[in-house]
Amino acid sequence: MLTVLVTGGAGFIGSHYVKALLRADDVARVTVLDALTYAGHVENLGEAFLDSRLAFVHGSVVDATLVESLMAGHTHVVHFAAESHVDRSLAGGGLFVETNVLGTQVLTAAASRHGVERFVHVSTDEVYGPLPEGVATEDHPLRPTVPYAASKAAGDLIALSAYRTYGLPVSVTRSSNNFGPAQYPEKIIPLFVTRLLRGEPVTLHGRGQHVRNWLHVTDNCRGIEAVMRDGSPGEVYNLGGGTDLTSRELTGYLLDLCGATWDAVIYVPDRPANDIRYAIDWTKARDQLGYRPQRRLDDALAETAEWYRRNPDRWAPLATAGPRTVLPTGRPMLAPLEMPRGH
Ligand code: NAD
Repeated sequence: MLTVLVTGGAGFIGSHYVKALLRADDVARVTVLDALTYAGHVENLGEAFLDSRLAFVHGSVVDATLVESLMAGHTHVVHFAAESHVDRSLAGGGLFVETNVLGTQVLTAAASRHGVERFVHVSTDEVYGPLPEGVATEDHPLRPTVPYAASKAAGDLIALSAYRTYGLPVSVTRSSNNFGPAQYPEKIIPLFVTRLLRGEPVTLHGRGQHVRNWLHVTDNCRGIEAVMRDGSPGEVYNLGGGTDLTSRELTGYLLDLCGATWDAVIYVPDRPANDIRYAIDWTKARDQLGYRPQRRLDDALAETAEWYRRNPDRWAPLATAGPRTVLPTGRPMLAPLEMPRGH
């Protein structure tokens, strides 16, 4: 039976992952460790709290004492917790280094001491940097351009070093851009959808020429679970296979889904180091683990826009509230189970 520690499980991808994990009969316990920064919301876990196998711990991955006490009794760790928004990293990278690099070091050190059977470090295709053409396989050089991607690349190397130094069975996943319900409305898809649903304009950087591969969050979670169960220690797995779109093409889809026109689009100057294109080769995960994305872009985008249309209570307060305070690190933050409103 598996006992899984999931960091960042109250965030966008982590919460989808926890729900998927709880569908498995061989999972005896899932512990979520989450600092509940502006991006973390217990509401994201919703009905998962009805499952007695789920425990929630409010705390930070950089709190070594807390992490040490939690690690015992877990066979698997899946590490999502991160500062994840590129634009915020442009304003200041310190917190990104603390969470994404130091947090990974604290976790892998504790996991090594406790003989964890598998540690999955969840990363991103942005660590490879821009690829004007071609695709990056897992051994492509890491050439991140922004503090977010640089901190993720450093976290990847820290995690892999725990495999080489201490024999911790680490696998790294690098996925393309995720979308789906309950993504914090600062990322382009929920940002545009929520603005358009309120009748507000959206801003497109440059000429909208940047290419991203769009992968539904449940497809990424399927890939991460395959890596957790069958991935090889010390290996990196690219998880792609979504749909490549320029930001202008993506905007066209979102305008249609929200019943808006191009009049709602304002073009603004590009932001610094806005990488022109990311592209990964994901055949290793396909051939070795049987990973294959299942969601079609048009259905999944429509379902995502519909989720925001039906759940204004989940995003409208966020859109007006501004960032929540990040918990200070270093103090004990074990807190009683925090239940989502309405439960
Ligand atoms: P998110 O911002 O929605 O969630 C991050 C979660 O981590 C939040 O719940 C937050 O409270 C928590 N967290 C932050 N700092 C913490 C700390 N010090 N201790 C404990 N918890 C902390 O992010 P996401 O989009 O769900 O991304 C999850 C992971 O996947 C990240 O590692 C990210 O780099 C990676 N990733 C994301 C994408 C994407 O498109 N969103 C693509 C590839 C990889």
